[in-house]
Parts: sequence; C-alpha cells; structure tokens
Amino acid sequence: MRHDTQISRLKGVGTRKTEALAEVGLFTVNDLLEHFPRRYLDRSTVSYTTDLQKDSQATIVGKVTGTQMRRGRKRSYFEMVVADERGFLKCRWFNGAKWIQKRFTKGDVIAVSGKVDFYGGFQMVHPDFDILSEEGTNPINTGIIVPLYPSGQKLQSAGLDSRGFRRLLRPLMDGLEQHLDEFLSDELITEYKLTGMSQALRDIHFPEDMDSLKQAQYRLKFNELFFMQLLLAVRRQSMVEAVKQNRFEGFGEYLESQYKKLPYELTGAQKRVMAEIWDDLKSSHPMNRLLQGDVGSGKTVISLLAAAIAAGNGYQSAIMAPTEILAEQHYKNAIQFFEGTPIRVVLLTGSQTVAQKRDLRKALKEGYYHVAIGTHALIQGKVHFKNLQLVVIDEQHRFGVLQRGELLEKAAEADVLVMTATPIPRTLSMTLFGDLAVSILDELPAGRQKILTRKVDVHTLPKVYDFIKDELNAGRQAFVVFPLIEESEKIDLEAATLGFEKLSTQFKEFKVALLHGRMTSDEKDMIMQSFSRNEIQVLVSTTVIEVGIDIPNATVMLIENAERFGLAQLHQLRGRIGRGEHRGVCVLVHRKLTQDSIDRLNIMVETLDGFKIAEEDLRLRGAGDIFGTRQSGLPALKIANILYDGAILKEARKAAFTLIHQDPHLRKNRHRGIREIILEKYEAFSNLAGIG
Ligand code: ADP
Ligand code: MG
Repeated sequence: MRHDTQISRLKGVGTRKTEALAEVGLFTVNDLLEHFPRRYLDRSTVSYTTDLQKDSQATIVGKVTGTQMRRGRKRSYFEMVVADERGFLKCRWFNGAKWIQKRFTKGDVIAVSGKVDFYGGFQMVHPDFDILSEEGTNPINTGIIVPLYPSGQKLQSAGLDSRGFRRLLRPLMDGLEQHLDEFLSDELITEYKLTGMSQALRDIHFPEDMDSLKQAQYRLKFNELFFMQLLLAVRRQSMVEAVKQNRFEGFGEYLESQYKKLPYELTGAQKRVMAEIWDDLKSSHPMNRLLQGDVGSGKTVISLLAAAIAAGNGYQSAIMAPTEILAEQHYKNAIQFFEGTPIRVVLLTGSQTVAQKRDLRKALKEGYYHVAIGTHALIQGKVHFKNLQLVVIDEQHRFGVLQRGELLEKAAEADVLVMTATPIPRTLSMTLFGDLAVSILDELPAGRQKILTRKVDVHTLPKVYDFIKDELNAGRQAFVVFPLIEESEKIDLEAATLGFEKLSTQFKEFKVALLHGRMTSDEKDMIMQSFSRNEIQVLVSTTVIEVGIDIPNATVMLIENAERFGLAQLHQLRGRIGRGEHRGVCVLVHRKLTQDSIDRLNIMVETLDGFKIAEEDLRLRGAGDIFGTRQSGLPALKIANILYDGAILKEARKAAFTLIHQDPHLRKNRHRGIREIILEKYEAFSNLAGIG
C-alpha cells in the first residue's frame, strides 16, 4: 500500500466512510497513518468501579450488562449499566438518548470516561465512550494497550469510532517498511536516538508496551518539530545569505552626541545589546534580531540609538508600534532624542487626512524625513522610502513568522529589530521568533523600586481610594483600568464610563479623565499628552493603555475585575507603573473568584518576573490562546505540544539548525528524503522558507 493511495480504495471503505473521513481532512493512507490516537487505555489509566471517587475524572472498562430508556421527571433518558469484574457503574444520557441507544448492545466491552457522580451509586452523565469489542473479554485485563482515536458524530455514524479506526489501520501495519521510506539520514537517527519511521507508526497505533509507545511518540513529535525548525533554519539561512546594499561605515555623527545627552546612564544590558546591534549593522548581511526585555527595561532608547546610527550613515529608519497611542509616544521621544540635530522625524497615523498623508509620503519617498514612526501601515501599502535601512517593530509578540514576513516584504534587505516585552517562554520564542538572533535586556534601570501588588475585594475599595488620594497629594498619578470584554465593546465602555463617573466624584479635588478605544486618535492623544504633563491625575481607561505607555510619574495601577484578565495582560498593565524613581503599587480588585482566578491573581502578587508569569499563563490558558502556533504562520502541530515538549523541541532545533549549517540548500544525497518531505508536505510553507 503506497502512502499516497486514496483511503477510498481500501477494503471495507465505502462512500459513507470516505465522505466522513474527507470532512475531517483524511484522504490518503498517509493521512490515516497520521491520524494519531488521542489517548491510550491500559491498566494505569483505567480504574476499577470499586475505586471511583466522587467528582474525580475517571475511565473504566467493562461489559454492558443492561441498557434501558427510562422515564425521568421531565423527559426520558437512556441508562446503561457497565460492569467490570469488581462492580458496576451507571451511565446516563439525557441528550441524544435515542442516538446513543443505538450505539450499544448488551455484551459490548466499552470504555467510558467522565466525571464521577454519586447518586445512590456511582454514575457518569454523558460520558465519552468507546466500544472496544463485541462479546469480547476486557482487553485491559489481558495487558493490551488500546488506542482511542479522535472521532465525531459523523465519523461514528459511518462506523468510524475508535474501533472502526483500529480496524482500518490494523491491516496497514503489514509491510509498512516496504512502502514507507525513512526520510531521516542514519546519522540523525543515531545521533538523536530515534526510532525508525515505520516502527514509530506501528507503535503509535498498536503499542506493545508503554516504552515502545513513548519512543514512538518521541519520534513523531521530533518529526513535527524538526520540520518546523527546519523551515525556520532555512529562512534564517536565506536571511544570513542576503547581502545588504547599504553599508554602515561607522557610528555616524549623531550617536555619540545624542547618547551623551541622555538623562541617564545605560544599563549594562542596554550597552551589551547596543554592541550586538552594532555588530549586526556593520556586517554585510541584514540584521534580523529579536530584542526581548521585560516591561520597563528600556527598549525604546535602544531603537532610537540604532536610528541615530542609521541616520548618521545617511539611511532612513522606520519604527512601528502596535497602537496609535504608542506611536505618538515614540514620536514624542524621538523628537526629544534628536533635538539639536538636523534629523527630521515624522509620524504617520491612520487618522491623518488623505492630503496630509500624501504629502508626508511624498516627503518620505524623497528622503526629506530620516525617521518615520507609525503603526504597521507604515511600511505597508503606499508608503515608499528613499533608502530605508533600519526597521524596528515594537511590542510585536502577537505576530508570528508569516505576518512578520509580510510586514517586511518591502524591506527585504533592511536591518530588522523586533522588540518585545519578555513574556514569551523560551519554547514559544523558538517558534514565533525561531528565525531570529536574540538579544536580551535582563536588567532594569537602576533606582527602580519593586512594585507592590495586592489583591483586594470590592469592600476594601474605600481604603484603596484613601491610599490613592495620598499618592495624588504627594504629586503622583494613577491609572484605573476596566476589563475588555471582547464580545461587547459596548459593555466594556459602559463599565469604564460608569467607573469614570464614580471616580470623578470620589477624587473631585483632582482631574480625572476617561480614555477608550472608540475615541478618535486626536482625542486619545490629547488625553495622553495631558496625562503625561500631570494635568490629569487619574486616568480611567479600557485596556487601550495595555502596552508600552510610559508615564514615570504614575505610581498606582488599579485594575477592576482583575479576574477577567489574562496573566500576560495583567503583567503588561502592571508594567505601566514603577517606571520612575517612586515605588509603584498595583491593586487587583476582584469581584467573582474561582479557584482558577485565585491562582492567577496569586501569581501576580507573588512575582514580578515576566518569564515566570508567561509560563504560568501558558500553563493555565493553553498555548492556543495568545501566542498560539495558529498565529505563528508555521505548520500546525498534530502530536507535539509547544508547551510540554520543550525538551524535544530543543533537540529538534539543534538537529535542524546543524543540518542547514552543514547543507544550506539540502543538496546532499543523504538529505534528499528531507527535501522531498518539505516540498511535498510543507509546500505551502516552502515559500516562507525560500525553498523551491
Ligand atoms: P520598555 O522596555 O517597557 O519599552 P521604555 O523604553 O519605555 O521601556 O523605558 C521605561 C522607562 O525607563 C522610560 O521612562 C525610560 O526613559 C527609562 N529608562 C530607559 N533606560 C534607562 C536607564 N538606563 N536608566 C534610567 N532610566 C531608563
Ligand atoms: Mg516599550
């Protein structure tokens, strides 16, 4: 059986099965082989009915000894009794009872999984189930490891429940070796201690013991991560091979003068990073560097110093921010930074008039401006530069490889610096930014005091307000943030507006202002400007201030309904304070607490470390959420998990990068298999990697 044979040509597969399989994207034998089990049953994962505990999750395997439609108080439900050799369990279905009823026959050996209830005896309501065999013995007791497959109603109706998949797959295991080429070289197999491909596929579907299953999983996860990293390695390689048109002769005339004018000494980390950037700039290959630095570590000044070098060499720079507010802030910083030099800075935003934009673009194209600041629109669409050489992308942790690629299409040979506030666990930055060299700002500017974080319930608010008043009287300022409820921007705004009114009365001796995403950017800008001049003391806002805003005099961050925020978001918000010499205080106000939100808020109280918070956030929310691989623009992972397979990822990355280092274009004969897989399976991504 060739691996590209259509499933429809397999024995026992008719139109119904073919259609159901096609619907979930399974067409070929190879697709089928890669339809990996979602879990396995064996004695270590299956409980006896006598060992069940109320409210726990459990799986039991037993024989169906009774099935019956029963009349409930409101409507009828289906009840099934499953017995193992020690006792029994009742399963009940209130929904879809008729459909469920048809699935089972007395005597079937089945596995049921779900939450254990106690209702005159142990029971499960709407458990997941898998029929293991008809009239059979309990396979778990014979020491067999039973694979359970991902399925769905349509597949099940077509006979493709776990059992159906096992039946389909079993015959494919014969002669797997003859039809399946090993695509990794012997060297790689040996060096990384990998199981052969056909063995791995056999063991992932029909493992003989836990050990061979583990090895199979390792190999298949390695595969996925290896190819992902290979794409990144090839991409990195093509960037490394690119040659810059524009050379940097030296620091130019602005670096030193502007550096000397800074009101502070750079931290050791900032100096080190500047040296790394300078190495890249002066090299004949374009820079592709990620600058990771926790909130407040001082990334902005790095981008400005780099822009000063570019300007000193006669090149233009573009600095991009994710929001207009942030772009405005960078613009102000840049104007101040380049004061006293002939360097001209321009701000391009969405809210400028068409005529304004046209004029500014023209001036940019003619090289009148040296430093352009704006949102992402800056280097997309109609904007052209005369000699753009430095591109800085600030706070870019939300964008993956692909988006970044699109963003930079126009600046293929430019020097690129991507800046992000740290919270990206190492495993994720290896995927999202796996093609970039990395610099880290791991030191906060001197004189910063630790931010104090407290979680309080609403009843404590009066005390908190007193505290805020003290701070305001001492000349400080405060942020009050209301949560973003994504479903409804309107409710969001209402909460903030109500809060604003309340706080205006509460702090009537002070100026309180409201800022939200629906304002025009002129309005937003005016408010931010007044806040930064301390004409406003309390800024009530929605999450629009989440990233990047820098007001060193603000010392209080009060977050309402803090339980609704993700950890990474709370960390970003908290990062808005404690940026100057005064101690910052962050107050997390909660209303409804679940165990989960208590855990999350406690993490915030306990640590200021962005890395730790990011890891926890990922653990609690799952990778898909914020930095999901979905957004990365890289191939989806079927079996590997970025969160849990960090160790394998590291190995795979090492293997991939070493390989590309030795054989940049995969021309060597022993790498032919790998090349073929890339072209075949990762075709859609080969342009990302520049393989053709
Ligand atoms: P982030 O890394 O979060 O973008 P910023 O660049 O906004 O941080 O810097 C935070 C604050 O720290 C700013 O007010 C900036 O002027 C100040 N800052 C930056 N570097 C230093 C330094 N070496 N010493 C003192 N203050 C600094
Ligand atoms: Mg910043």
